[in-house]
Amino acid sequence: MRNEIRNGGGSPDGAGRQAPGALGLEDELREDGIRGEVRFDRGSRALYATDYSIYRQVPIGVVIPRDADDIVKTVAACRRHGAPILGRGCGTSPNGQCCNVAVVMDCSKYMREIIELDPEKKIACVEPGVICDQLRDAAEEYDLTFGPDPATHAFCTLGGMIGNNSCGNYSVMAGQTVDNIEELEILTYDGLRMRVGPTSEEALEQIIQEGGRRGEIYRNLRDLRDRYADLIRERYPDIPRRCSGYNLNQLLPENGFNVARALVGTESTCVTVLEATTRLIDSPQFRRTLAFGYKDRFDAGDHVKDIMAHGPIALEGFDTTLTHNMETTGSLAVDREALPEGDAWLLVEFGGDSEEEALEQARTTKEALEYDGKPVSVKLCDPAEELSVWAVRTAGVDYSNVPGAMETEGTWEDAAVPPEVLGNYLRDFEKLLNKYGYYCVYYGHFGQGCVHTRITFDLKTANGLKNFRSFLEEAAHLVVSYGGSIAGEYGEGQRAELLPIMFGDELVEAFREFKEIWDPDWKMNPGKVVDPYPLDTNLRTGVDYNPPQVETHFKFPEDRHSFVVATERCFGIGRCRKGSGTMCPSYMVTREEKHVTRGRANLLFEMLQGEAITDGWRDEHVKESLDLCLACKGCKGECPVQTDIATYKAEFLSHYYERRLRPANAYALGLIPWWARFASRAPGLANFFTQTAILRDAMKAAANIAPERSIPAFAPKTFKQWFRERGPRNLTKPSVILWPDTFNNHFHPKTAQAAVEVLEDAGYRVEVPEQHLCCGRPLYDFGMLDFAKRQLRQILEALRPYITEGVPIVGLEPSCIAVFRDELTNLFPNDEDARRLNNQAYVLSEFLEKEDYRPPKLERKAVVHGHCHHKAIMGMSAEEKVLEKLGLDFEVLDSGCCGIAGSWGYEKGEHYDVSMKAGERVLLPAVRGADKDTLILTNGFSCRSQIKEATDRRALHLAQVIQMALRDGGGPPGDYPECEYLEEKRLRPGLRDTAMLGAGAALTGGAVAWIAKKAVG
Ligand SMILES: Cc1cc2nc3c(=O)[nH]c(=O)nc-3n(C[C@H](O)[C@H](O)[C@H](O)COP(=O)(O)OP(=O)(O)OC[C@H]3O[C@@H](n4cnc5c(N)ncnc54)[C@H](O)[C@@H]3O)c2cc1C
Ligand code: SF4
Ligand code: SF4
Repeated sequence: MRNEIRNGGGSPDGAGRQAPGALGLEDELREDGIRGEVRFDRGSRALYATDYSIYRQVPIGVVIPRDADDIVKTVAACRRHGAPILGRGCGTSPNGQCCNVAVVMDCSKYMREIIELDPEKKIACVEPGVICDQLRDAAEEYDLTFGPDPATHAFCTLGGMIGNNSCGNYSVMAGQTVDNIEELEILTYDGLRMRVGPTSEEALEQIIQEGGRRGEIYRNLRDLRDRYADLIRERYPDIPRRCSGYNLNQLLPENGFNVARALVGTESTCVTVLEATTRLIDSPQFRRTLAFGYKDRFDAGDHVKDIMAHGPIALEGFDTTLTHNMETTGSLAVDREALPEGDAWLLVEFGGDSEEEALEQARTTKEALEYDGKPVSVKLCDPAEELSVWAVRTAGVDYSNVPGAMETEGTWEDAAVPPEVLGNYLRDFEKLLNKYGYYCVYYGHFGQGCVHTRITFDLKTANGLKNFRSFLEEAAHLVVSYGGSIAGEYGEGQRAELLPIMFGDELVEAFREFKEIWDPDWKMNPGKVVDPYPLDTNLRTGVDYNPPQVETHFKFPEDRHSFVVATERCFGIGRCRKGSGTMCPSYMVTREEKHVTRGRANLLFEMLQGEAITDGWRDEHVKESLDLCLACKGCKGECPVQTDIATYKAEFLSHYYERRLRPANAYALGLIPWWARFASRAPGLANFFTQTAILRDAMKAAANIAPERSIPAFAPKTFKQWFRERGPRNLTKPSVILWPDTFNNHFHPKTAQAAVEVLEDAGYRVEVPEQHLCCGRPLYDFGMLDFAKRQLRQILEALRPYITEGVPIVGLEPSCIAVFRDELTNLFPNDEDARRLNNQAYVLSEFLEKEDYRPPKLERKAVVHGHCHHKAIMGMSAEEKVLEKLGLDFEVLDSGCCGIAGSWGYEKGEHYDVSMKAGERVLLPAVRGADKDTLILTNGFSCRSQIKEATDRRALHLAQVIQMALRDGGGPPGDYPECEYLEEKRLRPGLRDTAMLGAGAALTGGAVAWIAKKAVG
């Protein structure tokens, strides 16, 4: 019965076809009235084919249960079909325990209820999809916490933590997940649903006497315990971090025959968890951090024992391998200065009920240890330094893999030894790495002897795989020789092949028997933990990995000029599921794997494999997933490996639509710069069309624009017309080019006029290109890349004299400057002018900061929303510095993307809905909640439109805010200070316009055809 389904990558009969057990199962699941989602399509299966590991197996299908009853029905149907099953939370498992040829039940979307939180009893009852931080935040209201806090605490689930027996920084005070579980409600594959927990001998006997399936399980567990008790006591290492093997020790009488805890860490191989009762502990309300600096990581390891004697609540470490990688990626700006002298560091946190208590502990420890000859420096961090040093530590995994610089793989990532021997273990481990010529980054839970080490394994060649296997075996022997554990917190998954080295064959047989008690049909996550697949099979890459090198518009210079390499960037850590910041707005709204950066990256990876995703560039599953991508570039800015889905989406769409007509909105919205140019001949007439109810509605319907959205009105005079009439000033001063983007030129010219005033005040002669130029930003959203490239070539040609002279180019619309700073050099990596333009293009605040411009004071409050491209590509630091110089009392919102993202949120249906939900997450409530005399500031045209449509406020551009300071001193008194800075009232058509009405209508048809012809491709 065991492991009928064994395969390397993909389902046994090819991932494109249905796996055994699947036939009819999908229909039956639907007929059974599952309230959640049932998805057996190729796209959904491809999405769940991997986790945060080197492994890949395409599942049979995916169920997204709404509640425990959905799980019960799913398991029953799978049982009837003999289909294996697997629970899933956030999918951040490191060893392949969360992918399998099985029906995957993803609890992370709906099953997120904290059913009960009892501060008196200090317990909480949760569904398996509850996020670790969700529980910790709820508990913190009572000064309590759930102790284990994996680095993924912002997105990992309690179900997954229970599955993997997770730990974290605060495991020093709280132990592993196993130590914090009181009871579980579980479901066996054969349909038994029951609550389990500690069981007295009396209760145990009674359950056995009652008989039935439950009695049988308990009887078998008791017999297993009795047979193996001595061996368990002898072979289980008594260390703070043992995550390897099943927790059979929890069945021992001294541990109260705790069936719940015995099931913690079973990785979906025994039961499905429907509900968990967790222990909560007091959360120290005051904390202080000591940072120790050492000559190297070995000295740091040697010091752990002495520090632990002082009772910290956390003791974490890292060395220059991490800070170096952070420097390489430009991510260590401020934080390095906060660290004390040295090349390796330990961060030691003390907690107390008062500031004095925490401080006193830190001070005493410092005095006791600073001169004992081990550290080279010690620092008692102030609160700002604490934030900085912990930011370095918590970024450990993120910077353990740097594409193009230090490409690492998981699998030997979390071994743990007794903390008192950590230094020597690390010395020997280093020798082993050297023997194989491997490198890694070191960071982790030094206080508990668990150090993370992602390693530069080669998993694509036969020799590389041979070394990989041989290294793992030697490393396992090494860790066991130190009395340690192969897994210190990541679980086993497919790495379980190494377990006999640690436990011996007899105990491994006990694990097999334990599994069989719960899962006699061997259908729970088969091939993981027990009777595992060989650790070098089911690889995401491997020796057969040879995806086609495809021709692309973007050249991907940072990915060895290969789209294939770009799709390998994402290594699955799941930070895109964090629910804050900018990445990833569509996931924040839908909570769907297919709408998160990782899911999209995985689908593109799968598309190149051609197994589960078979239609290549024309695949509808990939298209669907990318469709809800707002192209906000949040991932490019926030994903540690800069997975850049906005660019991949543009590339995909360009191929998807090759030699095909795009939908109407692509021509209506993607070509907006050309329509605007056309409309500028008669703005009143254009407004007549776009603002008169019946015509406007017809246009919206034709262009697939949401009826709820308004079409922005054209200004009576474009900015360029205004500038031409006014003429340049400061003729003897240095030149700067003000980029006249379509939106500020045609719809918000006052913004650009304000910028002229500001740049002239800064001492510049403003020049505005006469030619009709467009950065082409709207084209990228629809994959019109041939056309986009033409626009960029035109710009390079037109601006060449300025570019070669080094004249700075200042843009007001962040997404336009982002084209010059991002897409331009990706499309033309070998063009020197492109590179020059890339270096000479600034958003206004960057330029003003560079020139150290000192604006007059504007002492009032402001709420600031950063445009997503601004945050992702340019960063907001210059913007904040200018606002500080203005003297504004401002708050920068953690508002992510406004939701409109160019034209994306204008489209009716799902786009509009997601757009509004994204806006309503933070931005729109914050604007509504701001005092009416507070300024609302954002530089993006889309962001201003979203605010205008959904609130009674209008947002100003930075240029206008500085203009306000220049003109009005403190700005207009009273509420709605923006009123005076808004555009003129909309124009009615005049005589000339009316005359043009007929001609316009006739021309429109011709223009559509002409522009569409130029754009397609
Ligand atoms: C960047 C990064 C940092 C990490 N840092 C840490 C760390 O500091 N400490 C640490 O301990 N781990 C860490 N991990 C590993 C991982 O995040 C943890 O194991 C986490 O708890 C897994 O949660 P998840 O929701 O992603 O679970 P998943 O990966 O979805 O699932 C984990 C296991 O639980 C099983 N499972 C899920 N739901 C159920 C259910 N309802 N019933 C039965 N079984 C179920 C799955 O089948 C799987 O075997 C890290 C991982 C990454 C990517
Ligand atoms: S896209 Fe980035 S953040 Fe998301 S899982 Fe992949 S590597 Fe992690
Ligand atoms: S571009 Fe934005 S919406 Fe698209 S995947 Fe990245 S973060 Fe998500």
